[in-house]
Amino acid sequence: MSDDFDPTVYLNGVWGPLSEARIPVLDRGFIFGDGVYEVVPLYATPDGRAPFRLTQHLARLTRSLGKIRIDNPFDDAGWRALIARAIETNHGDGDALVYIQVTRGVAKRRGHAFPAGIEPTVFMMVNPLTFPSAESREQGARAVTAEDKRWLHCDIKSVSLLGNVLMAQHAAENDALETIQLRDGLLTEGSSSNVWIVKGGRLLGAPRGPRILEGIRYALIEELAAEAGIPFEERDITEAELRDADEIMISSATKEVMPITLLDGEPVGAGRPGPVYAALYDAYQRAKARELSEWAARAK
Ligand code: PMP
Repeated sequence: MSDDFDPTVYLNGVWGPLSEARIPVLDRGFIFGDGVYEVVPLYATPDGRAPFRLTQHLARLTRSLGKIRIDNPFDDAGWRALIARAIETNHGDGDALVYIQVTRGVAKRRGHAFPAGIEPTVFMMVNPLTFPSAESREQGARAVTAEDKRWLHCDIKSVSLLGNVLMAQHAAENDALETIQLRDGLLTEGSSSNVWIVKGGRLLGAPRGPRILEGIRYALIEELAAEAGIPFEERDITEAELRDADEIMISSATKEVMPITLLDGEPVGAGRPGPVYAALYDAYQRAKARELSEWAARAK
């Protein structure tokens, strides 16, 4: 990103340059990581940027807020209006993402329990985004493994991301795209992605629940697998199964679905992106094209 990167952002009812947005130091997000966030992908279309799976992202934001007992500052229509304005205000021509963060608000003094009578802090920005290139998809990416040492509310999309930050740094220091985490010998997820394996033509995903964040791509990949006739199982996946997989892939808003071809320096299956990945990636592009054209039709 260039140094003049200064999108127009939303902070507590005010739109202005990112470089001028300020929060008080006693914001609970800053002091305790007491907040949640969302990342919605935006795709460049001939009619401007359009979100993908927005309904599902807003539903997850509502669930995350509910789980940490912050009153949702907006209803669905309110969020949609804000997001539409964020897109309009930041009308670049490339792909992008909308970042939304809601914290419990600003306290008068530091203390762990919820302060009474404070309003949530709401922040939103649009950042340009480059999806993985066709070349990187043809090759596949490297991943490394590590023990999952996070808390047991990984289902909440919390801004308390220290565990994930350390795992992302571990990947970066090992020249890998992602760290794949294991807890008690079972696959959980990446630092910022869900992880899928293929064995004997079957697609397997770690169980939804408190050990992983249910990506918006989780249900999507289930749908895409069904569409492509790929049997899918949501169940515990052992470390041995991970290391013996025919294919491994990760999914996230910013990576879509991405093949992992090297795990801890060992080739995954044939060491090339596999047929299940290819089928899911194609189905993903079709689902996206359908939804983006519906968005364009509604916008006209
Ligand atoms: N797990 C974690 C820990 C994540 O940060 C993400 C990215 N938000 C995901 C899974 C994938 O979620 P999504 O498909 O909604 O991007």
